[in-house]
Amino acid sequence: MPTATGPSRPPRSAVVVGAGMVGLATAWSLQHHGVEVTVVERRHPAAGASWGNAGWLSPALTLPLPEPAALRYGLRSLVSPESPVYIPPRPDPRLARFLLSFTRHCTPRRWRVLAATFATLNRHALDAYDALAADGVAEPTRPAEPCLLAFRSAAERARMVEELEDARAAGFEIAYEPIDGDRARALEPALSDDVGAAVALHGQRYLNPGDFVHALADAVRERGGRILERTEVSAVRDLGREVAVTTSGGQLRADVAVVATGAWLDALVRPFGVRVPVQAGRGYSFSVPAEGAPTRPTYLAAQKVVCTPLGKGRVRVAGMMELAPAERPVDPRRIQAIVAAARPLLPGIDWDARTDTWVGPRPCTPDGLPLVGPTGSPRVYVNGGHGMWGVALGPLSGRLLAEAIATGTAPAELAPLHPLR
Ligand SMILES: Cc1cc2nc3c(=O)[nH]c(=O)nc-3n(C[C@H](O)[C@H](O)[C@H](O)COP(=O)(O)OP(=O)(O)OC[C@H]3O[C@@H](n4cnc5c(N)ncnc54)[C@H](O)[C@@H]3O)c2cc1C
Repeated sequence: MPTATGPSRPPRSAVVVGAGMVGLATAWSLQHHGVEVTVVERRHPAAGASWGNAGWLSPALTLPLPEPAALRYGLRSLVSPESPVYIPPRPDPRLARFLLSFTRHCTPRRWRVLAATFATLNRHALDAYDALAADGVAEPTRPAEPCLLAFRSAAERARMVEELEDARAAGFEIAYEPIDGDRARALEPALSDDVGAAVALHGQRYLNPGDFVHALADAVRERGGRILERTEVSAVRDLGREVAVTTSGGQLRADVAVVATGAWLDALVRPFGVRVPVQAGRGYSFSVPAEGAPTRPTYLAAQKVVCTPLGKGRVRVAGMMELAPAERPVDPRRIQAIVAAARPLLPGIDWDARTDTWVGPRPCTPDGLPLVGPTGSPRVYVNGGHGMWGVALGPLSGRLLAEAIATGTAPAELAPLHPLR
């Protein structure tokens, strides 16, 4: 059931903090409802996780991060910096609290509940992209027909097939076929003979994330929105009839504020009762020449390495989940670990011609669900915590939140995402 929310009259103006995929998609959708928006960004659009990610729009794989297998990975990774999931051994009470809460959600029963929530969202994720394309966002999304999940053997593939079937049982719409190594190589000649089995996954899309977010920023500006770059927000206050947003460039006033600062969400929203912590799950990426690399989105699932064609003769290679502070610099060992894991399956890539080495923080919540909706203030909203899937779900959550703000009635899909849960 939709629930009533927000101030008594429809807001006419909004300040959105953060110009990543989520903040900009929210701003765009607020404009759609006639709200005047100012986006405030401490660096520039796509300065955070929304730049170097893998750009998969894959509703079939948009699953909750907490899962029973995550526990096994997490424990093993405590001792290995080369592991695709890495928790640096250091005393950090905040991280310990996050992990404790995360662990509680890693049960099969809880997974089914979380997956059902994702299933509902995923059904509309690509429509939200079509709405952007139909109304001024110039950068395209591309069909991945099919995208490939590659494995050394059918036995290695079995876990993924089980996961896809579990997702289907939870309500996901998934079209896939298991194929053998030769068929996979016929589709994708970059794969080596080490690949003995694959899954061809249909109906998914992908994009160049940096280019897309810049196009979204352009569309927001073209519709009359302001984007204040190199402007940091230090506080948001509810003044009763409006909000005051304190920035490094002075104070802004508006009817409502939306905080969409990705992995940096906590500090600005804690004063409004948001207690769910957002932890940086740092991922790494770089790009390689397209020659000898996959021509379609390809996931080496056991190695947890993703390849995505970016256009312009480059392919992005991404991976790793490192639970560490967002601001830390690139750790070269992680890049080497990605190369070492992927090279045997993709031997034609010129791994030494890497450029654009990058690390960025996935904004992870302990239950794997984003935080989308109102806070303790009826004028301060949150949109963030999308973890591994802020690109796939950003436009949809922006649309749902804008509807809640502009109409005062929250769509039913937002109920499990309530920031005060
Ligand atoms: C390696 C990797 C691969 C990924 N692959 C995929 C994928 O294939 N598909 C998918 O859907 N998702 C993927 N993701 C996840 C996705 O990138 C994130 O979920 C998404 O980008 C989060 O967007 P956001 O707008 O919430 O955060 P961000 O993009 O991090 O944006 C937050 C913005 O807020 C700004 N900011 C922070 N604090 C302040 C402040 N105080 N004042 C002003 N501005 C501030 C930051 O500078 C930043 O620009 C991947 C992530 C990684 C790391």
